[in-house]
Amino acid sequence: MKKILIANRGEIAVRIIRACRELGIKSVAIYSQADAHSLHAKLADESICIGPAESKKSYLHIPAIIAAAEVSGADAIHPGYGFLSENAHFAEVCEKCNIKFIGPTPEQMRKLGEKVAAREVARKAGLPFLPGSKSAIESIDVAKKTAKEIGFPVILKASGGGGGRGMKIVHKDSDLEKAYFTCRQEAAAAFGNSEVYLEKYLENPRHVEIQIMADKHGNIVHLGERDCSIQRRHQKVIEEAPCNLLNEKERNKIGSYAVSLAKEVGYHGAGTVEFLMDDDKNVYFMEMNTRIQVEHPVTEQITGVDLVRTQILVAMGEKLPFTQKDIQIKGHAIECRINAEDPKSFAPWPGKITAYSSPGGLGVRVDGFVYHGYTVVPYYDSMLTKLIVTADTRELAIKKMECALKEFIIDGIRTNIPFHLEVLKHPDFMQGKHSTRFLERAGFVK
Ligand code: ADP
Repeated sequence: MKKILIANRGEIAVRIIRACRELGIKSVAIYSQADAHSLHAKLADESICIGPAESKKSYLHIPAIIAAAEVSGADAIHPGYGFLSENAHFAEVCEKCNIKFIGPTPEQMRKLGEKVAAREVARKAGLPFLPGSKSAIESIDVAKKTAKEIGFPVILKASGGGGGRGMKIVHKDSDLEKAYFTCRQEAAAAFGNSEVYLEKYLENPRHVEIQIMADKHGNIVHLGERDCSIQRRHQKVIEEAPCNLLNEKERNKIGSYAVSLAKEVGYHGAGTVEFLMDDDKNVYFMEMNTRIQVEHPVTEQITGVDLVRTQILVAMGEKLPFTQKDIQIKGHAIECRINAEDPKSFAPWPGKITAYSSPGGLGVRVDGFVYHGYTVVPYYDSMLTKLIVTADTRELAIKKMECALKEFIIDGIRTNIPFHLEVLKHPDFMQGKHSTRFLERAGFVK
């Protein structure tokens, strides 16, 4: 591999450019007209404008991306996360054009991408599930029967859902019919797939996910878990690793579930298997993401493994440079997603950054793409940068995060830094007694 085109923008594009550079591989950035000043477009060895601001006409526009790869002579494409990263058709087009897609095969993506299909595979691989429907629910009668069997509350989920969208919590029988039809309709409109399924809704779970990495020679290794329970509207805001509730034995058990799932489809590349965990530390399979995740740095920090570099190496056909027993977890890492938004209402806050200074010091990492004088555009998600800290213990990591957040200067726009500071000092978070409902229960969000 000599040249990689990055089919993405913002911080993940910058992250991948850095990995390419360290490997001596040339990088090609693509950017929309709105992103001409984004750091990723400036940092790459080559940059190509592929269309207007609207994602459909740029970062999601397959012909323009393939043309950019061909014009620049890129022999591989890294899709990052979001956009086309889980689009099996895109991976197929890359293959047909003789461009390596850095990720699993289209077939593996199809088996694991849609939630209903993934549940089928996970069932075969012996993973644990919450009580619920075995497959898609085709009628309201089946929905009612299933909900009655498992008991309320239940959650309806769109098979094609993602990013916290396409879910409806139902507390009582009389609400089910309306929720079922709305969920189907919304799913058809948003994801082009009206398939929904139903499962037990857990009141106060933890979101625990396992990072895996697999090569093309059948080696699959898990790199421990991340706790991503601090969520707003089912979207992650703060992530950490390890999860303060798990010991090594428990970690390895959940890790082995993730490895079994990957094995079931002969998976290769980076992947994340997501679980919910109840008060008794039982875990239940939720879904698998067949790409690098936003929160991958916390795993890198505590394992010392460069996940993006490894992704590129395994895509080139190399064997994993580590085995399961080489993976040792050291210390504690926390990531705060710094968004351009009002810290109270969470309304996006685009605009010009009039002063910028990022924190530093031992154990402080900033993965971002903005700088002094940069204008945050309103067309994409509002995440500007990820602040990641690493320390010996969770307690020290929280303290370090607080100091780093206070050092961070981003003027001219509003950011959620004040929100993060409030969360960090909440006793439930400090004591590690949080759950996915924490922000709601603690009054941070309605
Ligand atoms: P997405 O693909 O949109 O990220 P997930 O299936 O990963 O959706 O779920 C996202 C979040 O939704 C979980 O982390 C959790 O907070 C909540 N959630 C999903 N299923 C359940 C459930 N059965 N009980 C309670 N919360 C759930």
